[in-house]
Amino acid sequence: MEDRVMAPRRNRPRILLVDDSAFMRALLREQVQQALDAEVLTASSGEEALPHALTGELDCVVCDVNMPGMDGVAFVKAVREHLGRLELPILLVTAADSKEDRVRGLRAGASDFLSKPVEPEELAARVETNVELARLHREVTRMAYTDALTGLVNRRRFLTRLDEQSGNAYGVLMLDIDHFKSINDSCGHAVGDAVLAGVAGVLQDCVPPHHLVGRLGGEEFAVLLPGLDLPAASDVAERMRAGVSGNALGGMPRGKVTVSVGVAVALQGETPARVLQRADDLLYRAKSLGRNQVCA
Ligand code: GH3
Ligand code: MG
Ligand code: MG
Repeated sequence: MEDRVMAPRRNRPRILLVDDSAFMRALLREQVQQALDAEVLTASSGEEALPHALTGELDCVVCDVNMPGMDGVAFVKAVREHLGRLELPILLVTAADSKEDRVRGLRAGASDFLSKPVEPEELAARVETNVELARLHREVTRMAYTDALTGLVNRRRFLTRLDEQSGNAYGVLMLDIDHFKSINDSCGHAVGDAVLAGVAGVLQDCVPPHHLVGRLGGEEFAVLLPGLDLPAASDVAERMRAGVSGNALGGMPRGKVTVSVGVAVALQGETPARVLQRADDLLYRAKSLGRNQVCA
């Protein structure tokens, strides 16, 4: 359930070199390390490289095409079943005259090519370019999934992640700030924004990182609680409610900002959209019962 896209990355690129020849591995390692400040890992076959590639911890793979067993093209195909071209760049090292390998490689999802004998400067330039493209892709994806005001995942990302839970056991919370319009009206929009950010922080602090807190829009939040049953999900909801009302948020005095919460857990065969709808219905019951409370 860990969100690969949203996870922060280290600065130093991590590069995997794959070649069946120990001599070539050593040579490529030296060339990469002379040109780039990179962490270099090596593997001696496609089979050995594949699990490394799928950890999501690599920034680039440089892979020989001609290897016994799983060759470079088969390796690319296997990786592409899980990670797109921009998620993990793979550079294939081919013989200089092998147009055929290049076409097969591109069709399989290779990002770029290097001809043997490999020129150190070209190797460095192509690795750098591909690492940079992947970094930009991650950045754009992260922005598309993030709510700028609170730093939480936005509606689009939350609903995608919720859909992925279909068939699993999970709980969902829907939360809405009480009388938020009057906070805006009496204290101004900037205070309203600070309150939104403050509430987001409290909600995030109430759950471990793999429990997803999102801003669905306006002053409405939702929380995805994988594996939790109704009592456990209700406990989280109550901690969030108490955490919001028990803290001074966005410059407002303690107790002035409150939330109402609806709690639902997935029933057998229920669609995620339906679970969310039930949590929303319960949120409105909490509102009508007087706000600053949890309904399950
Ligand atoms: P209730 O207790 O029934 O939920 O009442 P409410 O006032 O919280 O609900 P209502 O839907 O009437 O008002 C929500 C307000 O939230 C209106 C809108 O201007 C404000 N709002 C939505 N998005 C933002 C935002 O990003 N920043 C600020 N400051 N206000 C926002
Ligand atoms: Mg509200
Ligand atoms: Mg609302």
